[in-house]
Amino acid sequence: MRSGPALALLSAALLAACSGPPADPIVASAQSSEPATVASYPDPVQPPAPEATPAVDPAPPAQAVEEVEAPSTSHVALKYLIGDVDPAKDPMFAKIPEKYLGGSRVWGHKDAVDAFVRMADDAASNGYVLKAVSAFRSFSDQKQIWENKWTGKTLVGGKKLNASTPDPKARALKILEFSSMPGTSRHHWGTDFDINNLNNSYFNTRDGKRIYDWLTAHAPQYGFCQVYSAKGADRSTGYEEEKWHWSYMPVASWYLKQYPIDVGYERLTGFEGAASAKDIDVIKNYVQGINPECR
Ligand SMILES: [Zn+2]
Repeated sequence: MRSGPALALLSAALLAACSGPPADPIVASAQSSEPATVASYPDPVQPPAPEATPAVDPAPPAQAVEEVEAPSTSHVALKYLIGDVDPAKDPMFAKIPEKYLGGSRVWGHKDAVDAFVRMADDAASNGYVLKAVSAFRSFSDQKQIWENKWTGKTLVGGKKLNASTPDPKARALKILEFSSMPGTSRHHWGTDFDINNLNNSYFNTRDGKRIYDWLTAHAPQYGFCQVYSAKGADRSTGYEEEKWHWSYMPVASWYLKQYPIDVGYERLTGFEGAASAKDIDVIKNYVQGINPECR
């Protein structure tokens, strides 16, 4: 549960982040007899301009307040940030076409899937086969991946971490080389796709390098960016390089801006090793530890 001060802080942060008109324009105009004063609204995937002046000032009567409580298109709900959704029942998500699937994760954010299909179509027509081996994963999907590594059921670097690395923080850091804590994965957003293979070594083979070179050259045209680039001066924290993980930035950059405002460490609970999240500062060092060229 969220504490009082945290709620106040969150409210202030949300006010700051959502300073544009709060109502969906269609809902507002349908429910109000007032002349439409809606000139323009920010694009749904862009945060509102900071200088935007709320059109509802001074405070409207109570009735009007109720009317403007429809979800704002400029604020993403918490459930989408932490994967607490069922994509089969949520219109925000779409299925990846069978011909571009390489695994069992079939869902993505609908805009990201559209862009991925456009990219895969163009790649195919030029002789490059792109398949999504992973895409949307829920909190519980990620909890299973994480806890299998935590308990030694899945080997990490050939080892059972519960035996080789009993210290909780050290064990979490080892898993965090390539896997996210539940609640912190970009795969929760449906905007990120693992393409073709989950090993960097594949992308050094003849076939893999050919695919990687095509993605590096062309993926940005479709909105995709390799968020987990090589570690170094440009990216000193976070996961190791993942040449397979590509993120649809028009949606993901909006989610990433919202994430630290809405998700605090009190949300990152309910899985083995969660106590290390704050100590490691996974939000700053991992969620925000991306390739600075991906915006
Ligand atoms: Zn990935």
